[in-house]
Amino acid sequence: MRNPRYLRLRRRTKIVCTLGPASGSATAIRRLILAGMNVARINLSHGSDTEHAQHIQTVRRLAERLGIPVAILIDLPGPKYRTGNIAGGSTVLRKGAHVTLTTRQGEGTSKLIPVNFPTLPQDVKVGDTVVIADGAIQLKVQEVSDTDVRCRIVVGGLLTPGRGIVVPGMTSSRPFMTDDLREDIEFATAQGPDYVALSFVETARDVEEAKGILKRAGAEIPVISKIERRQAVANFDELLAVSDGIMVARGDLGVDIPVQKVPLVQKEIIEKCNRAGKPVITATQMLESMIDMATPTRAEAADVANAVLDGTDAVMLSAETAIGKHPVDVVKTMSRIASEAETAIPYEDILHEKRNEALPEVDDAAARAACQIAHQTGARAIATFTTGGSTSLRVSKYRPKQPIVAVTPSDKVVERLCLVWGVRPVKRPEPVSLEQVFEQATEVVMEMRVARRGDLIIITAGLPLAVPGSTNLVKIHTVGEKEIEAS
Ligand code: PEP
Repeated sequence: MRNPRYLRLRRRTKIVCTLGPASGSATAIRRLILAGMNVARINLSHGSDTEHAQHIQTVRRLAERLGIPVAILIDLPGPKYRTGNIAGGSTVLRKGAHVTLTTRQGEGTSKLIPVNFPTLPQDVKVGDTVVIADGAIQLKVQEVSDTDVRCRIVVGGLLTPGRGIVVPGMTSSRPFMTDDLREDIEFATAQGPDYVALSFVETARDVEEAKGILKRAGAEIPVISKIERRQAVANFDELLAVSDGIMVARGDLGVDIPVQKVPLVQKEIIEKCNRAGKPVITATQMLESMIDMATPTRAEAADVANAVLDGTDAVMLSAETAIGKHPVDVVKTMSRIASEAETAIPYEDILHEKRNEALPEVDDAAARAACQIAHQTGARAIATFTTGGSTSLRVSKYRPKQPIVAVTPSDKVVERLCLVWGVRPVKRPEPVSLEQVFEQATEVVMEMRVARRGDLIIITAGLPLAVPGSTNLVKIHTVGEKEIEAS
């Protein structure tokens, strides 16, 4: 049974929720799904493999039971540098005092802090700034030896174990692919997620290396590249070309580049992804104050709305759903803000401007024509019959005002399309005739209540049927046409 709540969902922007202690129980996951979670993010930076596997199973079981598809995104930590253990669990670093970061093992104190960053003394220079815990603590490098980096504390604060360390502008000589990352990829492969996200990528080679490992393991899982390094911004075009999607990971990005540059970088990345027709997620601190509070700040509401207006496919919740006090309310709030913002998307202008981005390819032409005809005729929906999901992605690229209904026989495609702007995926048996394509389209749009008998819809499909990548047909269809003729 498909869930009527899901079938009637109107929001086009997708919501990614990070699962964690506040949202890992079956009850919490069920409520998140009903509140509008489209993608569950499993962040391997925190928690154990057992917990992650359990969360994935619970999402799958409940999504199936509720009849509401949810994609699983496994976020792989990558080479994130962190502070090590601290004696007593924390220490205070005082402004003006000195502290040494060391690659030697041991317990940290206010004078000596171990780090999991073997090449730090080789990569850092005297005068560099070291940013700890997203900027809460800042150090200036004064002296470097083989294993130690002696620093003056510029901004002091309470230091706990496992805080992130960034040296803005520094190029790390540590290779992207580490044994830890290989193990995480192995774990992810075994879980069969719909997407994996790669942290701290810098070049296309990083993504290709990870894709190579996935391919050799027989798991060609789409890869989302997280843009959170200065080098990733500089190399964005080559990264986009080899990635299946992008995440604007504003948390770490806002440490590695000046924070005032983040909003414009976000806009540029989203625009390039829209042009390429690849899904993009805008992430981090979107409704941060709702970790504690019951309502967001007005600035946060504007941030979510602006990301929608920038053209993001999805907006992401991190700590808000993983450890926050109001995981369900935050999803409902985000959903309301996104839906409201969507009423101001200039659909007609986008379609008009996108004529410059049309590709000389049959499925792109069919997708654009479907959107153009839908706009011109006032059709109520665009039904895309898809085997691999690519036609629905192409239609989404043109940002039609009409709902994009993706009809596919594949569970995997249903789940993957959960991330894509405007697409409402549903599973149906592979149609064996064109007659059946029209019947299924009628049935689905009526079930979703996006069109009624006698309304126009646009259908895209491929002949011969059931051959991936064969989209070559655009039909202007009257809902119930067949039944009307027969009566
Ligand atoms: C970010 O830095 O914004 C991000 C999404 O990555 P993570 O949550 O892994 O730090």
